[in-house]
Amino acid sequence: MIVIDGKKTAQDIRAELAAEVSAGTASGRRAPGLAVILVGADPASQVYVRNKEKGCAEAGIASFAYYLPATASQQDLLKLIEECNVRPDVDGILLQLPLPDGLDAQACLLAIDPAKDVDGFHPESVGRLSLGLPGFVSCTPAGIIELLRRYNLPTRGKKAVVVGRSDIVGKPLALLLTRPGEYGDATVTMCHSRTPDLAAECRTADFLFLAIGKPRLITGDMVRQGAVVIDVGINRGPDGLCGDADYESVSAKASAITPVPGGVGPMTIAMLLMNTVQSWRQRTA
Ligand code: NAD
Repeated sequence: MIVIDGKKTAQDIRAELAAEVSAGTASGRRAPGLAVILVGADPASQVYVRNKEKGCAEAGIASFAYYLPATASQQDLLKLIEECNVRPDVDGILLQLPLPDGLDAQACLLAIDPAKDVDGFHPESVGRLSLGLPGFVSCTPAGIIELLRRYNLPTRGKKAVVVGRSDIVGKPLALLLTRPGEYGDATVTMCHSRTPDLAAECRTADFLFLAIGKPRLITGDMVRQGAVVIDVGINRGPDGLCGDADYESVSAKASAITPVPGGVGPMTIAMLLMNTVQSWRQRTA
């Protein structure tokens, strides 16, 4: 049984990006830049933003912090996004969600230049993914595919079950898995809260992806022997973090599994940095 080490893989990616950026700047290119927009003082968002800025610094990416008070108006925010859209040294724009009440997140995401949409949440990026056109892919699903690639676990021709249909994980992941390619080309079933027999669906999976947000909902008896289990869930309980899989019973059946913490989680920021470097590469070519 393979325990998929997302922490180590994310570190490898960050080191590769740092090397590419350092070679680029040594040859005279400007450094990549990420605008980080945080509105209000939500403690969890502050931690996420700090981690993203730290990741940028380690990779040689300049981060430009734009912190607005919770009282900021929609107009203030749209003006700021436009400023970032036109700033030549900004390759990516990250709008930390959720926004405080009264602000329209969809309208703000729509205002971001799709060429700088490193979070992959702009409707154009989502449309491009759906049509199989090049574009930014949202970071968590992109990180999952990257983990499969680096652990040499191709999904081509396999049966994949995705549990969860959110716009940020389940849906884009299902689209990626149906794209042509060695780490696509799967036959995908998407399950959600209204799926009548979740256990039966899960048992059909060669690759089981869990993005539910329910601690230890998926148990070993719901998993096919030898399945690859990718657990995206991050649940906070009295005994610390746990995933959507009951790790003990599921890992006894799986051929490979991502632990929580240390599996998918660390990949998200690594992919944000990767998307930013990709944008920089294109914009400074
Ligand atoms: P969400 O709440 O938007 O979606 C959850 C999905 O699970 C829904 O589509 C719902 O239909 C489905 N669901 C709920 N109960 C179910 C049940 N009993 N049976 C079958 N399906 C059920 O959540 P999300 O934003 O997609 O996040 C899911 C989990 O992944 C959360 O724990 C979140 O913290 C975690 N997450 C981790 C990362 C990361 O590792 N970087 C990123 C995003 C989300």
